[in-house]
Amino acid sequence: MFGSILAITLAVSGFAVLISRTQKSLLKARNDLERMASIDDLTQVMTRRVFFEHAEREFARAKRQNEVLSVLMLDIDSFKHINDVCGHGVGDLVLSSCAETWAKALRGHDYLGRLGGEEFCVLLPEADAQSAVEVANRLRKLTEELAVYSQSCCKQVTVSIGVASLTELDTNWQTLLNRADQALYRAKNGGRNRVET
Ligand code: GH3
Ligand code: MG
Ligand code: MG
Repeated sequence: MFGSILAITLAVSGFAVLISRTQKSLLKARNDLERMASIDDLTQVMTRRVFFEHAEREFARAKRQNEVLSVLMLDIDSFKHINDVCGHGVGDLVLSSCAETWAKALRGHDYLGRLGGEEFCVLLPEADAQSAVEVANRLRKLTEELAVYSQSCCKQVTVSIGVASLTELDTNWQTLLNRADQALYRAKNGGRNRVET
């Protein structure tokens, strides 16, 4: 009788340990998945989805508290040419080097996301139009100084940047983003390696 109780107790505790371990590995797997979904693998900056979540929240906060907020749209210049001449591997290196350089140059409470391909977006809470242009020009110059080397290729990289700042007319995050996108379009048409507002 005593032997059976002991055996059942041991079996139950063993089962409890097993469940606890399974729970821990499930939790770890979920955290890993969440991280994978929020950080872009190649550039280690936020994915589009997570960046937009932050942007919507910061937009609502800035509107509510009547604060300034600016956004930069960045697009690496002639990136297809870099891929074509130096190969996709160098193209990837250009993307990760640019993202690393920009991330280092931003403040702790700024946001940097990769929207797709060679297009990135920066959200600058508490930055008015003038300081946003200063930040954009700093990122542009740092990019210009960034030469990406590989065994067979050395590529100078430049970036075009569109800047937009929150106005009373902005009703949602998308209107602000659209203006930055239009400014980027003008920067491209104006000859690239430029900042436009
Ligand atoms: P522009 O100066 O007008 O911006 O021209 P562009 O060549 O930079 O732009 P375009 O849209 O013509 O080409 C973008 C290229 O980016 C095409 C696509 O193959 C490449 N690309 C997109 N994602 C990646 C990536 O993750 N790695 C690499 N190496 N290339 C990528
Ligand atoms: Mg592009
Ligand atoms: Mg481009």
